Amino acid sequence: MGEAITRKNGTLVVPNNPIIPFIEGDGIGKDISSPTHQVIDAAVEKAYGGKRKIEWQEVLAGKKAFEQTGTYLPDETMEVFKKYLVGIKGPLETPVGGGIRSLNVALRQTLDLYVCLRPVRWFKGVPSPVRYPSMVDMHIFRENTEDIYAGIEFMAGEEKTQKFLEFLQNEMGIKSQIRFPESSSFGVKPVSKDGSERLIRAAIQYAIDRKLPSVTLVHKGNIMKFTEGAFKNYGYDLAESEFGNQVFTWRQYQKIEQGKGQLDAKKALDQAKSAGKVIIKDVITDAFLQESLLHPFDHSVIATLNLNGDYVSDQLAAMVGGIGISPGANINYDTGFAIFEATHGTAPNIAGTGKANPSSLLLSGVMMLEYMGWTEAAEHVLDAMEHSFAKRRVTSDLHAMMEGATLLSTTEFTEEVIRNI
Ligand code: NAD
Repeated sequence: MGEAITRKNGTLVVPNNPIIPFIEGDGIGKDISSPTHQVIDAAVEKAYGGKRKIEWQEVLAGKKAFEQTGTYLPDETMEVFKKYLVGIKGPLETPVGGGIRSLNVALRQTLDLYVCLRPVRWFKGVPSPVRYPSMVDMHIFRENTEDIYAGIEFMAGEEKTQKFLEFLQNEMGIKSQIRFPESSSFGVKPVSKDGSERLIRAAIQYAIDRKLPSVTLVHKGNIMKFTEGAFKNYGYDLAESEFGNQVFTWRQYQKIEQGKGQLDAKKALDQAKSAGKVIIKDVITDAFLQESLLHPFDHSVIATLNLNGDYVSDQLAAMVGGIGISPGANINYDTGFAIFEATHGTAPNIAGTGKANPSSLLLSGVMMLEYMGWTEAAEHVLDAMEHSFAKRRVTSDLHAMMEGATLLSTTEFTEEVIRNI
């Protein structure tokens, strides 16, 4: 039953009955996984009248895998993801001990899923701490494989750390910059041209494909010149060399301004905008965190390194109702591998109580349908969820913050969304 999604000449080839591997997930994973499939199946049925259907195939990871196979991430699971390209997963508990730092990190590294994509938009009716949440519509491209998150760290007092310190002092001539050498721990921040370029290329292509107005490179290049600063420069270089006719960069604006004056620069910018070109600009991270609150409308696609992306994702998610309803995906646009996921954790405190909100996984399913090109089905799910939120028929997490809302269990919310499809 079902066929594999494949890739030909750089594009996905999606059969009418694709096999989609899924990881149920630990904790509330069990509560939200099946509802997500039910909603997606109903939307696909409505959109294509039985011509298309997803064949869900469970693969094991996390606690369930450990109980059945004695390992948290069986090789077979990775093989199935590799074979079928596109999959979806619920949250996984990070096992204590056993040599695995995080199952999520292991999945991302094995498939080299270098983009962590988080679209952030507001649904009418969902409580938000900002005054105009409807102005928030951003798409975060967070680099997923490099930066200080590469895990190269040395703990103060350990032998390796002493060696590293001596190398810095004796071989690299670094002295006064390390204020307390004897009690310092160290972390290494690898940022490469290749890694930066593939992330920024994917972000610009995404903006072009979706006719989005801009890509903002968010960085701390004012302080970390050869990592974050280089990321910004690689971004401008790549935009101008690979997407010359489709973009206009802030660096080009500044060149015109210096040579011919501000009027000409503004004219060139206006012309680029009217021609539908994507504007490529950059903002320092701390300024971005303010700007995104004060002028969210000024930013559309965000391309940023791993650590910045972590902070930015949570702030933007909070602006539209919290990470409980934010979807995410980890993608390698060169191979096509993609795993769509709920962004929250396993919520052990509410697992099995009917309180879990399936929206994060559901919206990840919407991203998956869009990635597969099944946009009509994606629209149906979005519309149905919009209806449910607007009618204030929600699960307990949102109910607690919404005046006059009707409290629904996970199953009731799922039925509500399916009724609205
Ligand atoms: P959590 O996201 O599981 O829970 C934080 C709070 O949010 C809890 O009060 C929980 O009840 C609530 N919550 C989360 N999702 C919800 C939902 N869908 N509906 C309603 N309420 C929801 O974060 P945590 O407690 O820090 O982590 C628990 C476990 O999850 C840890 O083992 C952690 O490693 C893991 N984790 C996994 C992922 C992932 O797989 N992507 C992400 C984060 C945390």
